[in-house]
Amino acid sequence: MKELNQKPNLDVILDKALKRQNLSCKEILFLLTLSTENDLRKLFAVARSLRDRNFNRKIFLYGFVYFSTWCRNACTFCGYRSSNSQMPRYRRTEEEIWDAVLRLQESGVHLVDLTMGEDPYYHRKQGFDPLLNLVRQIKRETDLSVMISPGLISKQLLEQFSSAGADWYACYQETYNKSLFRRLRVGQSFQQRLVSKLQAAQVGLLVEEGLLLGVGESLENIASAMQRMQILGAQQVRAMSFIPQPGSPLESLPSPDRQRELITIAVFRLLFPDKLIPASLDIDGISGLADRLAAGANVITSLIPPNAGFAGVAQHSKDINEGYRTVAGIMPVIRSLGLEIATIEEYSHWISEQKDMLISVKQGSR
Ligand code: SF4
Repeated sequence: MKELNQKPNLDVILDKALKRQNLSCKEILFLLTLSTENDLRKLFAVARSLRDRNFNRKIFLYGFVYFSTWCRNACTFCGYRSSNSQMPRYRRTEEEIWDAVLRLQESGVHLVDLTMGEDPYYHRKQGFDPLLNLVRQIKRETDLSVMISPGLISKQLLEQFSSAGADWYACYQETYNKSLFRRLRVGQSFQQRLVSKLQAAQVGLLVEEGLLLGVGESLENIASAMQRMQILGAQQVRAMSFIPQPGSPLESLPSPDRQRELITIAVFRLLFPDKLIPASLDIDGISGLADRLAAGANVITSLIPPNAGFAGVAQHSKDINEGYRTVAGIMPVIRSLGLEIATIEEYSHWISEQKDMLISVKQGSR
């Protein structure tokens, strides 16, 4: 009882994290409230130390191919919601997507993330055969790993993607507060979205889960979401700051202070020391990269080939055609932090280990 009433102590909590001991919700919440320069310096140092211990100072690179910006949904935080006429819409052809994949491969990424809104063309009309074929082609003709981000899909389809060779399924809850979820992902089912990730893991796909920050969540919401993400067993966890989108219901909500995202990344690292945590170029472009890596991130996401007509999600054009969202563009930052880009073999090896762990968890639960 005495222990329950004790005020959390930063050094004790950081020591527990270094020893890979579980942190309680109260301890996670305490970390999320840190604000002094000295405390944050300690938090980020431990986050980096855990990352470097587990990944040997190696960073992974993800290419982003946002191949359709059409969507049937109405998320209030998103510019690509179905009713918004202010956003540029496109649906790239298979040749255009393949060309982008090859450009990303040549540039040296480890993975391509094939992302779309819930485009009715695929979800209702055409079906997913073209995308399944593309995944097979990528796995047959390149060394790249593949993440699919097609929105909510059935278990049968997840199984087909897994058989085609996809490695990851990304499907962000954005919040684990159900009433906030209803306000953000209007008309969508909290439960179905969560179940789709469990089903993805059952069919052998690694899972990326994500939180959106600055949309009305409390620190308690973030702390409890982090614990839910641990239970989910996600292999990649991302935090992204909200960016207001023209023409969307939340267009006048200000973007939050970036400190919140940096602290969330660092706390993720304490809770998921050997998993992947992105530093997204989609929020602040190249200028925000060093801070996110210094907070413990180990994957750079949203690398986009310049002048190919592909958009980002939160920042549609930021730094893309200027060439900063390329492997060459981010190299100076990587070097300045004393980090290295992993080889493609190192990334594939990590993926295989994680998939083996999924299989042993599945066998253990039989
Ligand atoms: S967040 Fe995704 S599902 Fe929601 S409206 Fe935007 S593109 Fe569609």
